[in-house]
Amino acid sequence: MSGDMSNNPDAAPSLIQSETQNLDPKKSVIKNEKIMEACWSRVNQRMRKDIGDAAWRHWIKPLRVSRLEDGTLTLEADSTLARERVRSQYADRLRVISSAEFIDMAPSIRHIEVRLAVSRHQMHVNQPHRLSDQRLPAQEEASTSAKDNDLMLGLDPRYTFSNFVVGKPNELAFAVARRTAESEKVAFNPLFLYGGVGLGKTHLMHAIAWHIRQQSPSRKVLYLSAEKFMYRFVRALRFRDTMSFKEQFRSVDVLMIDDVQFISGKDSTQEEFFHTFNALVEDGRQVIISADKSPTDLEGMEERLRSRLGWGMVADIHPADYELRLGILQAKAEQAPVQIADKVLEFMAHRIVSNVRELEGALNRILAHAMLVGREITIESAAELLADLLRASSRQVSVDAIQKRVASHYDVRVSEMFSARRARNIARPRQVAMYLAKNLTSLSYPDIGRQFGGRDHTTVMHAVKTIESLSKSDNQLAEDVQLLKSILAG
Ligand code: ADP
Ligand code: MG
Repeated sequence: MSGDMSNNPDAAPSLIQSETQNLDPKKSVIKNEKIMEACWSRVNQRMRKDIGDAAWRHWIKPLRVSRLEDGTLTLEADSTLARERVRSQYADRLRVISSAEFIDMAPSIRHIEVRLAVSRHQMHVNQPHRLSDQRLPAQEEASTSAKDNDLMLGLDPRYTFSNFVVGKPNELAFAVARRTAESEKVAFNPLFLYGGVGLGKTHLMHAIAWHIRQQSPSRKVLYLSAEKFMYRFVRALRFRDTMSFKEQFRSVDVLMIDDVQFISGKDSTQEEFFHTFNALVEDGRQVIISADKSPTDLEGMEERLRSRLGWGMVADIHPADYELRLGILQAKAEQAPVQIADKVLEFMAHRIVSNVRELEGALNRILAHAMLVGREITIESAAELLADLLRASSRQVSVDAIQKRVASHYDVRVSEMFSARRARNIARPRQVAMYLAKNLTSLSYPDIGRQFGGRDHTTVMHAVKTIESLSKSDNQLAEDVQLLKSILAG
């Protein structure tokens, strides 16, 4: 075999080629480009907030992201002027922001490289400032040529009703979403779903879209984020093309706008949205909206829009309780190729309380580990693997909760936590509470002191040291502290 290869000069290259073909480099390049564009668009949003609209539009927006390699992010500018300006004035800020926003692709960005976009520059050498304007419509045309596909673009195939686990906190939202998806006629108009991040709003909206798509393919469903809505609207304004923009939105049977809070404070987008919304509702088309708050609590929204949004059915999704968290973990674990013990899932459901997205992330980590290592996951190894998440969620313990729990454990009054009394039977529990506050929250010594009746930070430091050193010799105390810790953090 190796003899063959050395005799045939073509053998080695073709071998390499077929290997790369197996990896389908085209697909992964396209995927990477997409992720890169998404990261870059987040950088843009933050830059825009940071440096103001005018400067952003002039210097940052026309840039194109071209490459990310070895911690260097390469951008292309349309003119030498733009290149120099970005290098001298914005590179530092871009580096810091990109480091955070490109986290999906690289652990950090150490350097921003700005180059001249050679070919484009030569082609349009006389009108460098209009380059970016001209480029957009062509790009857009290419990506949306198949109109129908465009409508379903960005819908996650996993986000279906059958993959949605129902429990008390989300049963109302689930029921109305299902009902809306199943009825041929307009059910509730608008349907307004709201709840905190990572609780399943987007999942339910996609599920509605998939369902309608399957059940009545002739109905035209358009799903998009409020951000996209704004982007398209602004672009339409820029190209004086608002007619076709309006046409596009007003011709659908079902319009879904996700995360509508995004257009808070953006007056002209809100105005346009309001008109689109009214036109559709009056015409008997279904409108479905999601937001992180209820219509009445949406700040920065015009009053008439807020009240209009609350006219139909408003359903909120509450944070998942223990049963739902466990149910979701079990459902997802069932589909996995490796088995995770029930007690590990229970442990996770107890400890990861923030939202479903984080819960999923935790499970994925556990599954990946189980598959790689091929050893059974125990509570201990899970705790180790998820240490950062567990710490983050235990940080949510309040000093108030610590004081109450410690007081009841030692059978002293909660008010003693703030009192000046120094009797041992009171001072010791108080010190334990301070120690736990330091360990279970991210508060500083002075912060903690303030919450214990305005004590000095040195008192808190002393308390922490005392409990640490006493725990080494006093088993009873060590046990108490350990128990309180696990109760409070769990
Ligand atoms: P939101 O839009 O409210 O921020 P998402 O819909 O994006 O939240 O949900 C975050 C993640 O959690 C998604 O991967 C989603 O599939 C999952 N998820 C949320 N709720 C449930 C549920 N009840 N059953 C199954 N998966 C869920
Ligand atoms: Mg969402």
